[in-house]
Amino acid sequence: MPKVFIIDVTNRDGVQTSRIGISKLEKTIINLLLNEMGIYQSEIGFPFSKSEVNYINANIELSKMGVLEPIVLSGWCRAIVKDVEDSLRYTNIEHLNISISTSDIMIQGKFQGKKTRDDILKMMTEAAEFAKKNGIKTLGVNAEDASRSDMSFLIKFAKEAKNHGADRIRYCDTLGYDDPFTIYERVRTLAEEVKIPIELHCHNDLGMAVANSVAGAKGAIDAGVDAYINTCINGIGERAGNADLVSVILAVKKASSLKDKLELDERVDLSKAWKICKYTSYAFGIPIPINQVGVGANAFAHESGIHVDGTLKNRRNYELYDYEELGRPEQEIVETGRVITVGEYSGMKGFKTVCERLKINLNNEKRTQEIFELVRYANLHTQKPLTEYELRFIVQYPEQARKIMTVIP
Ligand SMILES: [Zn+2]
Repeated sequence: MPKVFIIDVTNRDGVQTSRIGISKLEKTIINLLLNEMGIYQSEIGFPFSKSEVNYINANIELSKMGVLEPIVLSGWCRAIVKDVEDSLRYTNIEHLNISISTSDIMIQGKFQGKKTRDDILKMMTEAAEFAKKNGIKTLGVNAEDASRSDMSFLIKFAKEAKNHGADRIRYCDTLGYDDPFTIYERVRTLAEEVKIPIELHCHNDLGMAVANSVAGAKGAIDAGVDAYINTCINGIGERAGNADLVSVILAVKKASSLKDKLELDERVDLSKAWKICKYTSYAFGIPIPINQVGVGANAFAHESGIHVDGTLKNRRNYELYDYEELGRPEQEIVETGRVITVGEYSGMKGFKTVCERLKINLNNEKRTQEIFELVRYANLHTQKPLTEYELRFIVQYPEQARKIMTVIP
């Protein structure tokens, strides 16, 4: 039976969102946490963009070292030869998604009458062939605005992509225009006609990103191909956001009929949800909404008489799933007295104190000095007090940390 896999795009689509952003070190920690959570693939960024090059190459290095593994690390670029060429020249990226608009609205609106449907096919097939000939192992071809594209052209586009080396087609509901009924039908038809695994990339402009993602996935599965749902942690993303990672996993595992009809990649470990959502919220500086699915402060809170009574008698009366499944600790220890943080202006004494508290052994003075220097730069780089994850990462992989934090304009 075909399966549902998750491709998280927080580090590509999430970070390109207006008014929010994170550092390269924080992107790296998110990749590590996604790997720990058993997520199939992380779209880590833009390999043709020079500001990402050191970060991407260092993350690929961590993958080769077995640290960031088995997660697949992939890049994104436009479906033009120049972007693919630059991506391969600057980085060691081996998995790539290339993107081009397929709807007439966008072909007209973006290219202003200078490109036809045939030109789109030509650009895409040339870029796909170039990528495959030059060592790209997994190639996804993205149909931007697929949901507003003419169905017969979309099928033709996907067939051409497959013939020129595509391993998957990304069905992008770029404007969140689909609904669960339309996306199911369209994706099922596309998958039946082309027989290629489908990625679902859904935005939340009508509040249906998660519903559309799982409905689209079912369309692919019913047509006999694997489905790859694109997610963002905490549902962040452009405008109203992307499909939320935790909600998608819960929908596939717990929803009335989906729980029996969709088979989720068995490596996905929901118990890491709490950890990754909290870290990502901290990194972006965006609080988790109180009513966020699974990880919101109120997701397991009860007050009204009937609900409290019912829940205390049997949690299943008013809780669809358990907070323990999401790795939510029953109590969290928050230090309210003296706090020592490490940052750019820290001294050695404070740094050593924090390391001792975290039971981090730095062995000798030379190494301690070296790590301390990197930690100061890390704070300059993230502009926030360092977290335990970041500190431990720097201690374990100082060379990669140094590379990740190096950006030379
Ligand atoms: Zn998107």
